[in-house]
Amino acid sequence: MSTLLLVSCLGCAVDSRQEEAARLVRDYVARVEPLTTQANRLYWGATTTGKPEKFEQLKQLQLQIRQIQSDRNEFARIKACRGSGRIRDPRLARQIDKLYYGYLQNQIDPALMQQTVELDAKIQETYNNYRGTIAGRKVTISDVYTIMTTEPNVATREAAWRASREVGNVIIGDFLDLARLRNRAARQLGFDNYHTMAIVTGEQNVADLDRIFDDLDRLTREPFTKLKQELDEILAKGYGISPEELMPWHYHDPFFQRTPLVYELDLDQYYKGRDIAKLARTYYASVGLPVDDILARSDLYDREGKYPHAYGHDVDRCGDVRVLANLQDTERWMETLLHELGHAIYSKYHDRREPWLLREPAHSFATEAIAMFFGRLSRNAYWMRAMLGLSDEETAKIEAVSDRYLRFQQVLFVRWALVMYRFEKALYANPDQDLNTLWWDLVERYQFVHRPPGPADAGWASKLHFTVAPCYYHNYMLGELLASQLHETIVHKVLKLESDEGLSYVGDERVGRYLREYVFGPGARYRWDEMIVLSTGKPLTPECFVNQFVK
Ligand SMILES: [Zn+2]
Repeated sequence: MSTLLLVSCLGCAVDSRQEEAARLVRDYVARVEPLTTQANRLYWGATTTGKPEKFEQLKQLQLQIRQIQSDRNEFARIKACRGSGRIRDPRLARQIDKLYYGYLQNQIDPALMQQTVELDAKIQETYNNYRGTIAGRKVTISDVYTIMTTEPNVATREAAWRASREVGNVIIGDFLDLARLRNRAARQLGFDNYHTMAIVTGEQNVADLDRIFDDLDRLTREPFTKLKQELDEILAKGYGISPEELMPWHYHDPFFQRTPLVYELDLDQYYKGRDIAKLARTYYASVGLPVDDILARSDLYDREGKYPHAYGHDVDRCGDVRVLANLQDTERWMETLLHELGHAIYSKYHDRREPWLLREPAHSFATEAIAMFFGRLSRNAYWMRAMLGLSDEETAKIEAVSDRYLRFQQVLFVRWALVMYRFEKALYANPDQDLNTLWWDLVERYQFVHRPPGPADAGWASKLHFTVAPCYYHNYMLGELLASQLHETIVHKVLKLESDEGLSYVGDERVGRYLREYVFGPGARYRWDEMIVLSTGKPLTPECFVNQFVK
């Protein structure tokens, strides 16, 4: 066989593999794109109204999509293409990767899959319609936040805290069944449990994550001890008790995942009476990322039956992007809206010339990073000055405390994420252990919050993430790390500044241009680690985050 012949034969093999791969992608998108868009519309309809029949329709549609991804013959062909090493077109190879992980998760017994989907939907519906009670009166999660941030009466605070956790005890039986089903499915695919499967199919690995969380524990333990001591003294003094007597309901958030507004300044006062949606619209336009179209399609205010939290939603990967929120004129909701719009602009600015499968964020934590990058601004003194028209005097006052707020918030978040990551890892390793006690063990170890007296209940399960975004929480932490890495890149390489001192991030279109070109536009064209090197010049590490908040 001549060299020429050998080369051309190899060429044939490559071409036929490429053709096969292209055909697999084409057939898949033709079936799944319309179903996905329809499911996205239904999810919107279900969460904005709380109507059971919409949840039912959504469930059917999700099952249909999963059934396509469970086809064993197609999976074998995808796997063969991926393993052949003969797909030279990197865009096509990336799409095959996407298909591979999508199908891998669904190579489980169809009856088991159906049970999982049904149980998941049942819990979500209960969660969506459940309202805890204080002295027999139904309360929303917004009421709980209001009480926990403003109420001086400790008995009322405790009642609100307990009300926020009732739903955990209502859904716990179903939730543990769901966790066991998830484990059974993971084991069918050769993983030791669902946690490992979720990490691997997210193109990550458990050892890397353990290392990052060990580093973060080590780097934040001492600073957190100090910050927490100061906080406890302030709180205890306010309640007229000693720091040792502080209970979870004395803090300002049901899970102590947000900083209490207890220092000299209450940031809520600056947002009182302000139009939160208008502030967000003006801001995003000023950095060259207008969101008028997004807001026009959004559902922003509280209503009976509506999903009580917030999310950003890409309906069709063709520009129909929306936000669901329950806005109030507080700093918390300013942050939330900036955050959800961050998700929304990532989706809005995907390059539409990219194929459908790649018109997605590079990773779920990459879109979290963008959401966090913008969400952080609601406590930034210079941003507040520019957006709220504050005087120099007010700005200086805020600046004196805002660094502390941001620093505390970030360090606190690390400790909270440690609880979530370690708890979920242990939960899926053994769902039959005493999880209620484990929860408080971890809360005491990482957050330094005392467990309440009496037997531990399943209040932890009121954290919706366990149901709707299982084994996902580490991505919020990676998101923070990436947000800091992008911040450092923008400060030094895009805006060419020496430091971020006095930087408001308002009114500079270079910010939007950089993000569109390096992050939003390419979408999932590159794997997340590649995208980070391309956009920031180095791999993801805790370094920039530690520089910004911990040192
Ligand atoms: Zn988010």
